[in-house]
Amino acid sequence: LQADGEGMESSEKEFEKALRPLSFSDFTGQHKVVENLKIFVEAAKQRTEPLDHVLLHGPPGLGKTTLSFIIANELESNIKVTSGPVLDKASELAGLLTNLEPHDVLFIDEIHRLNPVVEEYLYSAMEDYRIDIMLDSGPNARSVQIELNPFTLIGATTRSGLLTSPLRARFGINARLEYYDSKLLTTIVGRSADILNSIIDEEAAFEIARRSRGTPRIANNLLRRTRDFAQIKGDGAITLEISKVALKALDVDDHGLDEMDNRILSTIINKFKGGPVGLGTIATACGEESETIEEVYEPFLIQEGYLKRTSRGREATELAYKHLGAIPPSQTGS
Ligand code: ADP
Repeated sequence: LQADGEGMESSEKEFEKALRPLSFSDFTGQHKVVENLKIFVEAAKQRTEPLDHVLLHGPPGLGKTTLSFIIANELESNIKVTSGPVLDKASELAGLLTNLEPHDVLFIDEIHRLNPVVEEYLYSAMEDYRIDIMLDSGPNARSVQIELNPFTLIGATTRSGLLTSPLRARFGINARLEYYDSKLLTTIVGRSADILNSIIDEEAAFEIARRSRGTPRIANNLLRRTRDFAQIKGDGAITLEISKVALKALDVDDHGLDEMDNRILSTIINKFKGGPVGLGTIATACGEESETIEEVYEPFLIQEGYLKRTSRGREATELAYKHLGAIPPSQTGS
């Protein structure tokens, strides 16, 4: 299960788009963030000013892209979308910026992965709506200043800690998205099922919700796969029984941990005596990139109390031992 938007099939992208809420009122959860954003958007509109630049951070699949589209919608502005790794030349950034209409939104996903040269150009664009472009080089080098229409930059990142401080300082609005509780995710699953014209029991929606790692993207994907099981193994209706069969087939365990979550925990416990062990070592032993473990898996395992981060590395908690049916060291006296 890919929690990250990267590397998704285009059919999955289409599916995500179809399920994406388009207004604040349609967006479930993240109550505080949404209430604040509503005020900032309304105030900017009343003053006919651009909205301050917005930084959205938090684990993948929690709604950063969705919220950015909603903000643009609510501002009645256009949105241009790009991402840190894609935007590797200053000229591309200049191209995007000079095409923005007044009060448009430029969305940069994975903004922590911007090329430093491009980032430098962004500073004056954000601050003064201006960019200085260098023409020629050597003795003929000169810079021309291009005035931009006032715009709003929305940056999204899974790793706000990797943002440079000058970039971070240029965002007037900074919001962190949190994992969703099962109740909110049940609402989201119900809403998605409606859009997909699927019939789903409340219990089935809750079952999918509570096993989705607190993440709407995963909840929607599990719903989609469960719908396939309901169609082939049942009469199309998504019942609790069908959802349990589907989740089992998809290797999502009873606590909502997927195969990689369990592999990470069992590696720490079985190969490294429960830790502490370094992230790189875990990654190699699990056959996964350390970045993915740190961005996608670890935050949820820590939040749920399976994993601890100490100065000496990662440690499995008693809960992790219990989860895997192993005996914690505290009970073996070793
Ligand atoms: P991110 O940009 O944080 O990785 P996205 O905005 O792409 O996450 O959201 C992933 C999927 O989850 C989208 O299909 C979106 O429809 C759905 N989603 C995210 N947040 C919500 C929400 N609060 N309510 C309903 N659906 C949501």
